[in-house]
Amino acid sequence: MPIATVNPATGQTIRTFEELTDGELETRLQRAQSAFQVVRRLPLEIRTRALLQAADILDADEDRLADLLTLEMGKIRTQALAEVRKSAYGLRYYAEHAAQFLAARHLERPADVNADQAYAVHQPLGPVLAVMPWNFPLWQVIRFAAPALAAGNVGLLKHASNVPQSALYLEELFSRTDLPDGAFQTLLISAGRVEKVLRDDRVVAVTLTGSEPAGRSVAAIAGDEVKKSVLELGGSDPFLVQPSADLDRAADIAVIARTSNNGQACINAKRFIVHTAVYDDFLAKLTERFTALVVGDPADEGTDIGPLALESGRTDVDELVQDAVRAGARVITGGAIPEGAGWFYPPTIIADVPESARLYREEVFGPVAIVLRAENLDEAIDIANDVPFGLGAAAWTRDADEQRELIERLDSASVTLNDYTISFPELPFGGVKRSGYGRELSEEGMHEFTNLKSVRVR
Ligand code: NDP
Repeated sequence: MPIATVNPATGQTIRTFEELTDGELETRLQRAQSAFQVVRRLPLEIRTRALLQAADILDADEDRLADLLTLEMGKIRTQALAEVRKSAYGLRYYAEHAAQFLAARHLERPADVNADQAYAVHQPLGPVLAVMPWNFPLWQVIRFAAPALAAGNVGLLKHASNVPQSALYLEELFSRTDLPDGAFQTLLISAGRVEKVLRDDRVVAVTLTGSEPAGRSVAAIAGDEVKKSVLELGGSDPFLVQPSADLDRAADIAVIARTSNNGQACINAKRFIVHTAVYDDFLAKLTERFTALVVGDPADEGTDIGPLALESGRTDVDELVQDAVRAGARVITGGAIPEGAGWFYPPTIIADVPESARLYREEVFGPVAIVLRAENLDEAIDIANDVPFGLGAAAWTRDADEQRELIERLDSASVTLNDYTISFPELPFGGVKRSGYGRELSEEGMHEFTNLKSVRVR
């Protein structure tokens, strides 16, 4: 894939970029190594102050940045602005909490380990490679960079090839803070050169957010090199609706859960598993709302859904839909690529998806809702768990016993009741099963890239 900004609303190439040469890449790796020797020794207050400076810069740049996200990947303007603001919030969150998260943990009775003093302390690891996707071009990077930099690491960003201007902005952002030169660098390289970077001795660890094939490849190399990896991969999150739910509210939220980010978030709800007693009602309410959505230019205020970010992504979505139709699924609304420029796909609802269809178990990365019927809660949980993924499950019920069952039995890294799945800096975020491993955000996210050193002093 060329490294270029291509407007997905028109298909027009706006700007192309040259990849780094081998020599330029080498210079950047050297710079990362030197920067680490400085960053690791900086007082924590300077590192956290840099995060606050970056947050202030994001505030000042928020309009032009929101425009850039809309241009590069077709995110609707209001959601682009929300992403910039969430990124600033994430920076401030880690600035505020880093001291607490990195504090040494002293043993109350060091004599138990034959010492006068005994404690565990978090130290940085070194240059960490971040392989990042285009769907939240700022937020996905900030949620890695803020805790990693605060902990004293340095960052090397290999961003998705279709968001190069966002990638370059992120390097510029941290270079405008008090962090030393090279503390956070963008590598304009193709995916094929990730292996070389990851095998380099100066790079100590990797985090990847993206597809399962990319994750598998990067994790295999990291394993071969015995380097720490964190993976945040795809999902096919369930959204369960039980009879006690407020159906109107559940349908309103279901629309946001499925279509936000033009349906291209790992934690979008993708499968709506509805109790048979309320199935017809819920499907009618969801259909009414989906057909009212406005698809169009993501820069326009009245638009609900913009284009998909990549032409290949739209092809993948349509192939899954057509495969399901051939297998006997019923299209309630949408389900066909429209005429005209840009990579638009209509909000689509598909019912009666048989188990034999790829759509039943694979992730669909676009505004396509799969509606499935369950006879009871047990069956709903079985269907919810019957995919290889496990990111975030959402369920709608006011019954306290059902709520306990759902929290206990859903195979996912998070459960949300009576709302949709969303990430917060305050809560750990990640996946189980093929959705990945490790955690981002919260205290645990910061600890992923630290050496927890045990110290005993006699
Ligand atoms: P990819 O996984 O291909 O891209 C994510 C990042 O990984 C990009 O920086 C990409 O670089 C890089 N990459 C791709 N392949 C490799 C590889 N073999 N080794 C090292 N790095 C690699 O995602 P796509 O954009 O192609 O989206 C396809 C699917 O990925 C979606 O349908 C969805 O399922 C999933 N996805 C999940 C996301 C999530 O948030 N969990 C986000 C985005 C996608 P380059 O752009 O240069 O190829």
